[in-house]
Amino acid sequence: MIEVSHLGKRFGSNQVLRDVSLSVEKGQAVALIGPSGSGKSTLLRCLNLLTVPDEGTVRIGEQSLTFTGAATRLPKDAVLAGFRARTGMVFQHFNLFPHMTVLGNVMEGPVTVLQQPKAQAAEKARALLAKVGMEHKADAWPDQLSGGQKQRVAIARALAMEPKVMLFDEVTSALDPELVGEVLRVIQSLAEEGMTMLLVTHEMAFARDVAHRVAFMRDGVIVEYGPARQVIEAPREAATQAFLARFH
Ligand code: ATP
Ligand code: MG
Repeated sequence: MIEVSHLGKRFGSNQVLRDVSLSVEKGQAVALIGPSGSGKSTLLRCLNLLTVPDEGTVRIGEQSLTFTGAATRLPKDAVLAGFRARTGMVFQHFNLFPHMTVLGNVMEGPVTVLQQPKAQAAEKARALLAKVGMEHKADAWPDQLSGGQKQRVAIARALAMEPKVMLFDEVTSALDPELVGEVLRVIQSLAEEGMTMLLVTHEMAFARDVAHRVAFMRDGVIVEYGPARQVIEAPREAATQAFLARFH
């Protein structure tokens, strides 16, 4: 469902992704772990083309794009929109629209981008809010919510666009510890329903228990990729072992 091959990205002289290849099968959850600055967010952003790769191929579902260094032109808007529509992304910092209610936030994409009738979008938005345990806050404003509640609404908003894959970038890192669980439970239930997802996380127990596979990234390279339990509990590479030792 997600396939990245020989992806490269640099910012100036900083080579941030080096020959990265990774595939995520339909229905699989893959956790991406690694030290700060290793390129995890950049890889996620390349998947929905928020960042345009220098070289390599990105495929989401049946749509794929190849980048070839200097000759690469920015894809046409329609192609970009196609990629973005296939990938739902949730970030570390809550990015709800502050001037819209919770329900308005979840309806916005379907109404403006998918041109769904408002009544239909509202009905679906309420169902998605129920799924993330937020239906009782449909008429609240974002600044009336806790961080965990905002993230659950952000997940519902991403799901409203019916993405083929979900990308989560450290969605619990900015939360107070007591709010982490409620957000992880929502992600876990999505994984159990078979949503294809790639998630960057520092929650190693969550990666081990919920992800099917784990990729460890360092200095722009995927150093180790394997079954979640094996990578977290019995990493083969010295670099993975050293990284994981910090969490014990
Ligand atoms: P963290 O765990 O801290 O979020 P990360 O693994 O997500 O780290 P990235 O955010 O992908 O790391 O950054 C990888 C490298 O790319 C870093 O050296 C960063 O400074 C650099 N970088 C990322 N985005 C840009 C940008 N827009 N312009 C210049 N450099 C960037
Ligand atoms: Mg990051």
